[in-house]
Amino acid sequence: MNKDLKKILLTEEEIKKRVCELAQDIMNDFKDEELFFIGVLKGSVVFVADLMRCVKNDVTMDFMAVSSYGLSSQTSGVVRILKDLDFDIEGKNVIIVEDIIDTGTTLKYLYEYLKKRNPKVLKICCLLDKPERRKVDIKADYIGFTIPDEFVVGYGLDFAERFRNLPYIAVVKEEAYANK
Ligand code: 5GP
Repeated sequence: MNKDLKKILLTEEEIKKRVCELAQDIMNDFKDEELFFIGVLKGSVVFVADLMRCVKNDVTMDFMAVSSYGLSSQTSGVVRILKDLDFDIEGKNVIIVEDIIDTGTTLKYLYEYLKKRNPKVLKICCLLDKPERRKVDIKADYIGFTIPDEFVVGYGLDFAERFRNLPYIAVVKEEAYANK
């Protein structure tokens, strides 16, 4: 394992199994209705790709890019839309697919922003949840794993743009990001 990583938190097998369970929960809720997935760049890229291949409904999708973190591991608390949707979501069954809810700032902002476009349904599907860190009141409808307050990477999540390609989720050593 890389010297900046402390331990593996979730293995490739555990993630694969849980992603299929989340897909099943979504299929149970929406039966054979059409779905529109919104992947939040860049952290959700791997998750949304795996999730949508497990869902048997008709799925269309798009990406949004937002920024709330710079290159460091500390949130700035300010959310900016860097890339908006290319499609209208009015009347659609929309699922925001996010990598992690930390303080909740990003998802709260995104949820309120998209709600104004009158989707039929607006749900949140999040791979990881760190409830201890929550600062604003927002809950995901589908959560993969609840994790402790540690900075994690892999399966799309980065540390200064590194580690997104790891097939597992690992914890970064404190000393690796303490001086970033
Ligand atoms: P929030 O707005 O909920 O504080 O932060 C959400 C965003 O912060 C996530 O989409 C993710 O990009 C980043 N983030 C929060 N916690 C972690 C973490 O443990 N690891 C990584 N790589 N990113 C995180």
